Amino acid sequence: MYIDGQWVGARNGSTREILNPANGEIIAVAAEGEAEDARLAISSARRAFDAGAWSELPPTERARLLFAVADRLEQRTEEFALLETTSMGKPLRESRFDVADAVACFRYYAGLITKPMGQVYSVADPVQGLVVKEPVGVCGLIVPWNYPLLMSVWKIAPALAAGNSIVLKPSEITPVTAVSLFEIFEEAGIPQGVANLVLGAGATVGQELAESEHVDMIAFTGGTATGRTIMKAAAGNMKNISLELGGKSPNIVFADADFEMAVDYALFAIFANQGQVCAAGSRLLLEESIHDRFVERLVERARQIRIGAGDAEGTEMGPLVSEKHMEKVLHYIELGKREGGRLLLGGQRLKLKGLENGYFVEPTIFTDTTADMSIVREEIFGPVLAIQTFKDESDAIRVANDSDYGLAAGVFTSDGAKALRVVKKLRAGITWINTYHNTYNEAPWGGYKQSGIGRALGTFGLDAYTETKQININLQMEPIGWFKN
Ligand code: NAD
Repeated sequence: MYIDGQWVGARNGSTREILNPANGEIIAVAAEGEAEDARLAISSARRAFDAGAWSELPPTERARLLFAVADRLEQRTEEFALLETTSMGKPLRESRFDVADAVACFRYYAGLITKPMGQVYSVADPVQGLVVKEPVGVCGLIVPWNYPLLMSVWKIAPALAAGNSIVLKPSEITPVTAVSLFEIFEEAGIPQGVANLVLGAGATVGQELAESEHVDMIAFTGGTATGRTIMKAAAGNMKNISLELGGKSPNIVFADADFEMAVDYALFAIFANQGQVCAAGSRLLLEESIHDRFVERLVERARQIRIGAGDAEGTEMGPLVSEKHMEKVLHYIELGKREGGRLLLGGQRLKLKGLENGYFVEPTIFTDTTADMSIVREEIFGPVLAIQTFKDESDAIRVANDSDYGLAAGVFTSDGAKALRVVKKLRAGITWINTYHNTYNEAPWGGYKQSGIGRALGTFGLDAYTETKQININLQMEPIGWFKN
């Protein structure tokens, strides 16, 4: 862990073994912090913030250091990609994308913070009004395991750019790239105490961050149930809060869509990162008339996905992140069968030669689903696709919106006006027309309904880590005269 500029173990000496999900082997032993360690990190961040060593630096100076972080991370792309793959499981080509995205995210916010911010306003009185943006203070950042590096950077980059001090808590099962990232912070010269890293479980370290009176903001990415717990814990001192939660996103394909392109994207939408993507297109909505032909081609293509260790040449799908998570996904597959879904492909754990202890699950496709089934309603967070059908445009919108979640949605059609009509009626924060999964540092990321509160990335993502202050300047140097004597 990295607290107050020092590399430290847990105060009570606890550790946790970090496993490679492709073979179940131990690849690292991490410190396992507790609430006490979190408190030390929070105090360190508090002192650094109150001293102004970072928050009061000119934005150009903070930008210079964040650009230096980006350069160092870029130079170590291969090393970070390999670490991410061996600790999390995703294919190397995806990890390389993630590192490149993380580098770009640091650069985006380093650039943005030096651009004009705030407002000037005029009022009826002889008063000049200004709006300025200031850092929130100490930010607790809690992130999941599906994009360990990228989800951390989506929070760290805007938080630091805005002048905050931070305490990061990565997922306890995938902390290794976060440790390497904090080495880079140290080398780049981020002042002591500004960036702190605490490792450990959600119920201890995470809970302390969410509850602490000394933390001004909590930014969380993870499951909706955890988000609810965090929101309650954060209520004590009315923290600013940002929640990026789960999804069950519909990918809608109309009969007039480009057939092969829609099939291709449907695969990418659900099976990238083994389906462990918050925005995964885990519900495929097909117009009735193309269902049979589409499903046949989809299954034919999904069968050919090359499954293996993420670091092996040619691997297109890796293992799930952990044994526990694999069991959860397999449980949902059983539920899907029991509740009457028709299993078209997959459904089993895969024991690959030489990787018998890996947590591989076959690409799995269900059709003949109904709106009340668990595999249609609940986030599985694995390579399991539930196919639904619709009759026409308004039925597509109805089926798509029939969810507690509202994170993302895709629409495939060759009718541009229809695509836009549909997208405008979808209750989702991220939408794609004739594409899927595009994610840009420039564009706001977040969900409607139970998929979260607030937006990450873009200018919205910087706003989230700032307070807004109005300054009213009297231009008439006279007493107000409210009281006569
Ligand atoms: P999770 O909610 O189990 O854990 C996320 C983080 O919260 C971990 O660091 C965990 O240790 C911590 N945590 C757990 N309990 C806590 C508590 N009581 N108090 C404070 N912290 C606690 O989620 P996960 O299984 O790691 O990740 C998968 C989930 O993340 C999925 O639901 C997925 O949709 C979501 N996700 C959302 C986005 C998004 O941008 N909307 C992005 C990635 C992942």
